[in-house]
Amino acid sequence: PTAPSTPTTPTTPATPSAPAADPALAFARLGLPESQLANLAQLGYHAMTPIQAASLPLTLAGHDLIAQAKTGSGKTAAFALPLVTRLQPRQFAVQALVLCPTRELADQVTVEIRRLARAEDNVKVLTLCGGVPIRNQLASLEHGAHIVVGTPGRVLDHLQRGTLDLGALATLVLDEADRMLDMGFADDLKQVLAACPRTRQTLLFSATWPEGVADLAKRFLKEPREVRLAERH
Ligand code: ADP
Ligand code: MG
Repeated sequence: PTAPSTPTTPTTPATPSAPAADPALAFARLGLPESQLANLAQLGYHAMTPIQAASLPLTLAGHDLIAQAKTGSGKTAAFALPLVTRLQPRQFAVQALVLCPTRELADQVTVEIRRLARAEDNVKVLTLCGGVPIRNQLASLEHGAHIVVGTPGRVLDHLQRGTLDLGALATLVLDEADRMLDMGFADDLKQVLAACPRTRQTLLFSATWPEGVADLAKRFLKEPREVRLAERH
């Protein structure tokens, strides 16, 4: 398609930072830094999804959270925004750990966290999953990271080797907890959880709420707030 040769009147930007139609869903009400609000607008995130609107006021205030919501509801930003906002980029240590059931999901979460961390300078996100040669990960770990995203088995492997230090961990996220249990990660998960500092924020996301997930929440979260947006509970 060829552009018209006659000058046209100024057009609106391709991605207008239009305010959310419903003010209750505006990211601006969360008190996020201006740089993050600009980043969200640039990403085309003009309004919070329901899980984000329900959970972000709680998680940004520091509460533990158990959240039940289906796939595609925007859970990644729901946990990434609090951990990115709390991150101290100058402290070069692992401050957040996100555990996911599969490498594919860990890769997706890593991409989304990198997008949401763009508002900060030099935030390093490292993915640690099984099925990848461990020596590549050892080299990356030597260079350090602020945020680690991984599968429970490989993360535990690094903890046992002493190649991953969680001493500075501030936020722990269990993403798709029900699937992690389905995949047989219960023991690995519990060992990783036991290796995390006691003073931390823990966020647990799950599409369904079987006994095993309820058990994890009871054992490893402190006075969690609950947000449930599943069709049936
Ligand atoms: P879930 O983890 O609940 O399955 P994701 O976090 O992967 O969902 O989000 C699903 C899609 O929605 C992604 O492409 C993400 O970039 C997009 N998304 C998330 N939050 C918003 C928002 N507030 N506005 C627009 N798109 C969003
Ligand atoms: Mg997800």
